[in-house]
Amino acid sequence: MILVTGGAGYIGSHTVKELRSRGYDVVVYDNLSTGHIEAVGDAVFVKGDLFDVELLKDTFKKYGVDSVIHFAAYSLVGESMTNPIKYYKNNVSGTLCLLEAMVSCDVKYLVFSSSAATYGDTGEDIITENSPQNPTSVYGMTKLMMERLMSDFDKAYGLKYVALRYFNAAGADESGLIGEDHNPESHLIPIIMQVLNGKRGKLGIFGDNYPTFDGTCVRDYVHIMDLADAHIKALESLRAGANSNYYNLGNGNGFSVRQVIETVEKVVGRKVNCEVVPRRAGDPAVLVASSDKIKRELGWNPVYNSLEKIVASAWKWHSTHPDGYKTK
Ligand code: UDP
Repeated sequence: MILVTGGAGYIGSHTVKELRSRGYDVVVYDNLSTGHIEAVGDAVFVKGDLFDVELLKDTFKKYGVDSVIHFAAYSLVGESMTNPIKYYKNNVSGTLCLLEAMVSCDVKYLVFSSSAATYGDTGEDIITENSPQNPTSVYGMTKLMMERLMSDFDKAYGLKYVALRYFNAAGADESGLIGEDHNPESHLIPIIMQVLNGKRGKLGIFGDNYPTFDGTCVRDYVHIMDLADAHIKALESLRAGANSNYYNLGNGNGFSVRQVIETVEKVVGRKVNCEVVPRRAGDPAVLVASSDKIKRELGWNPVYNSLEKIVASAWKWHSTHPDGYKTK
């Protein structure tokens, strides 16, 4: 049995759906602070908090859990800069509680959603796993500290983990049943969709004076179902006896904020109302991944390898769910 923390959230719910479709038994553990019960599908659901170590232990024992995929975390770069208490407490202390419960119940395998934000501004065109990790945001620092916790728990207790450093998760499952719904929304592609759906007046482009070819920030967008596949491959490798490891997940292509807007306009066939506004604190200029390591070692191969495909799947969800999930 696999326990998925944050399985009611955006990346978690897509991974749960993929796990279930491949026949895995899954229990979702989520406090529903930002997740949606509708996104859980047919997995077992336990409403619980990472800080509730006793409930975690009971859940591990009750369902015979041998592996955890850990998504539960706050994930807004901007908010992390103004409310570091919330981020360090939930993300770092919460993960410590999860790891403590795992050690106590002898749950040995962990796949962890880390982030490109752990790198910060590397100044490198393509970031490999050996690039220095100097986060520019509190959010990125919490993810780096979480990686460190896992590494120390491996040395001390033999906990085996894979940290997946994803670049920009985007898109939605083709079923149209689950997708991205954050409140408030802070991510670029869903915000553009909100503008197109008339839910928001215009998109603010956060700065056009970065050292990039058009002055706006460059990111590497990777499809949510390709991320889901990577989590499953990582877990299968651990269960087969692999050592702890860490991998980047991206498509290896950088797109500026302006290019993302143009791609959406092309796919949807409408203009996006936008204006340049000041930079957002904590944003590095360029984040583009080399994912060669996971391709080579785990055979990961992203299916959604163009921004058009990613945007089209996102639009399928947002155009049919302009208000997101029914339950908030
Ligand atoms: N961005 C923007 N306006 C918005 C939201 C995001 O210009 O309303 C930019 C942001 O500065 C970043 C990129 O879009 O360069 C992707 O931001 P997002 O929040 O989606 O992901 P992040 O890179 O922070 O993980």
